[in-house]
Amino acid sequence: MSYDVVIIGGGLAGCSAARQLAQRGHDVCLLEQHTYPRHKLCGEFLSPEAQDSFRQLGVLDAVMAAGAQSIGRTRLTDARGATTEHPLPRPALGLSRYRLDALLFEAAGTAGVDGRSGTRVTGLQGSLAEGFVVDTTDGTVEGRMVLGAYGRRTRLDRTLDRPFLDESSPYVGFKAHYKGPGVPDTIELHSAPGGYCGVSPVEGTRANVCWIGRVDALKAAGGTPEAMLADLRQNPALEARLQGLQRVSDRFEAVSQVPLMPKDRFVDDVCMVGDSAGMIAPLCGDGMAMALQAADLVVPLASEVLRGERPAPSFRRAYDRQWRQTFGTRMRMGRWVHAAAFRPGAAHTLVRACQWLPPLARWLIRSTRG
Ligand SMILES: Cc1cc2nc3c(=O)[nH]c(=O)nc-3n(C[C@H](O)[C@H](O)[C@H](O)COP(=O)(O)OP(=O)(O)OC[C@H]3O[C@@H](n4cnc5c(N)ncnc54)[C@H](O)[C@@H]3O)c2cc1C
Repeated sequence: MSYDVVIIGGGLAGCSAARQLAQRGHDVCLLEQHTYPRHKLCGEFLSPEAQDSFRQLGVLDAVMAAGAQSIGRTRLTDARGATTEHPLPRPALGLSRYRLDALLFEAAGTAGVDGRSGTRVTGLQGSLAEGFVVDTTDGTVEGRMVLGAYGRRTRLDRTLDRPFLDESSPYVGFKAHYKGPGVPDTIELHSAPGGYCGVSPVEGTRANVCWIGRVDALKAAGGTPEAMLADLRQNPALEARLQGLQRVSDRFEAVSQVPLMPKDRFVDDVCMVGDSAGMIAPLCGDGMAMALQAADLVVPLASEVLRGERPAPSFRRAYDRQWRQTFGTRMRMGRWVHAAAFRPGAAHTLVRACQWLPPLARWLIRSTRG
């Protein structure tokens, strides 16, 4: 069977785009390599604007019913003991990817999407003019259009020969769920030499603890996630927070080569959405909201192409322009704040400056999200 759209990757971008395209009357096939529910590496902090996308998608009630926690404040700390706390402009949410991705994949299915989990895409050929053939571990799928929503970095990037792979990334990330009394309704970001760690509430009175650092800091600490986290606990606020918490996840989720370098929005005629198009620094806590917003951007344009109302070159230009206008500033700010968080002196100056100048903190929060 041939589809109007084949979407590679059933994360936030892929599920949202799939559901919206199906609601517009298009035949959509959504291919996800894993099966749900499944734990994923992520800070699990959903920026306030994600709620607008969930509402528009018709899944906000389901997200709340899944146990999403309201998060009203942000707290930044550094290894020298400086700390600063500020209200968020609107409440954010905390929900595990274990619940969220399963819920979104199911919502795509109820809109009529042919969602196939456990199906990995291994290659593809074609164009918007000729149509595409997508190779998977379960046979081939044909489509008039392909959206790449397969996340930050996968083997498929190598198959598609994407230029961002020429640059290697020095970052590794880990996460686990913890339990303990009094997890506050706050997204905490604790900076330390070698990395930073986020702590925020998710469903079931749990805290998600997620940290990112350089691979050399991981090696110097002894090579294990526990040892790396122990090293980050030089930050006294992180140490105090973790003393009250006990790990409940039986293993750490891990990722290496976190790619924060710029990427292209198109590879030939394959349109990239979400992290496949560009990943914001994790400490902004905005990657999931951006993935949802990118789906909101691409869907009307893709629908016009499928109805024969927009030629392919205009699609490429319009999506690329809208993507840069919507996300360009926060991507740049994100890289800058991420770099500062890795330099103890810069992190200290930033935390102190936000402490003494609350408008600076508000500006930073605003400019690292939509
Ligand atoms: C350490 C860290 C912390 C983070 N913390 C936060 C945070 O607190 N808040 C936030 O908003 N963002 C955070 N992010 C970023 C966030 O996780 C991403 O921006 C977001 O998940 C992007 O969504 P996506 O749909 O583009 O990709 P993903 O959610 O990664 O989904 C891509 C999907 O594609 C599938 N896939 C991959 N390859 C194939 C293939 N070949 N065939 C079929 N399927 C495939 C994958 O299995 C996956 O399910 C963090 C990232 C990191 C690394």
